[in-house]
Amino acid sequence: MKKGLFLFGLLMFCNALTGQRTYTRTLKLMGSRFDLTVVAPDSLTGVLHINIAIAEITRIERLISSWDPASQTSEINGKAGIDPVKVDRELFDLIDRALGISNLTDGAFDISYASMDPIWKFDGSMDKMPSEDIIKAAVSKVGFKNIVLDRANSTVFLKLKGMKIGFGAIGKGYAADKAKALLIEQGVEAGIINASGDMNTWGKQPNGSEWKVAITNPLNKNKAFALLPISNSAVVTSGNYEKFVEFNGKKYSHIIDPRSGYPTSGISSVTVFAPKAELADALATAVFVMGREVGLHRIDQLKGIECIIIDDKGNIFTSNNIKIDRL
Ligand code: ADP
Ligand code: MG
Repeated sequence: MKKGLFLFGLLMFCNALTGQRTYTRTLKLMGSRFDLTVVAPDSLTGVLHINIAIAEITRIERLISSWDPASQTSEINGKAGIDPVKVDRELFDLIDRALGISNLTDGAFDISYASMDPIWKFDGSMDKMPSEDIIKAAVSKVGFKNIVLDRANSTVFLKLKGMKIGFGAIGKGYAADKAKALLIEQGVEAGIINASGDMNTWGKQPNGSEWKVAITNPLNKNKAFALLPISNSAVVTSGNYEKFVEFNGKKYSHIIDPRSGYPTSGISSVTVFAPKAELADALATAVFVMGREVGLHRIDQLKGIECIIIDDKGNIFTSNNIKIDRL
């Protein structure tokens, strides 16, 4: 009897030693908070895999950051209206896909929104609307149709002087997809890449259950209103609860309508479910711009993509095929 108990105890001990566990690290990458979680048999392997993800995200940041003067993206912006710039195939393809999403959203998502960057500051420093003339001048440089790609030469050309591109609405999603793909390639069976609300999961928790994501209520950001299981897919939330401006009691989000040059209002948060974080990220931004009706209609036309919108009064709207259990 005693022996049996001992054996049982020993087995439990071995299980604890060799059993899979989750390892998480939180750090700032791409100017945002990243929480990287992997399932691994021991801490050494866990740390190793997390470091691989960090190196990959850092590599992508160097390529796409428009703040880093040495990046290829900055080179493209510096040569706007002057010359095409030869870039890595990876950046070329990302821009090509971004143009595809612009077409899909009638220009609501547009990486050339970036020439509006100097005009709007969403850090609390603005106290009045910029003048109409200033906005008009800046928005005249926005327009994805003026981004010229030459696949044979792998070049990108911004046609207008003063034009700029930026990956603020798609870069974190792309980085999350790439980090996930690399970890899968390395044999990591399960994990979550959470790039400030851009979540990408694969595999299952060590106890066999699905990963679950909490959807926060923008009107009370410490309180989740729904918990949804996600498996091997991405969910991205864009909210106006961190970066926004307020003029005359009206709240505007940090997402700009590329057609008018003005920030959007009326929506508090958009959550998009999609197979890839890159697409979910870009679509979440686009739905802010398209607004509730047009946005939901467009999402309902896309297979495998769902959406939850919370407006500034706290009303919740969802695409056709989504069921949420409120907490
Ligand atoms: P988050 O700040 O949560 O990552 P988003 O993914 O929605 O939010 O990205 C917002 C960022 O995208 C903005 O800070 C800006 O850099 C950029 N952006 C703003 N408007 C647009 C737009 N219409 N199309 C593409 N990018 C945009
Ligand atoms: Mg986005």
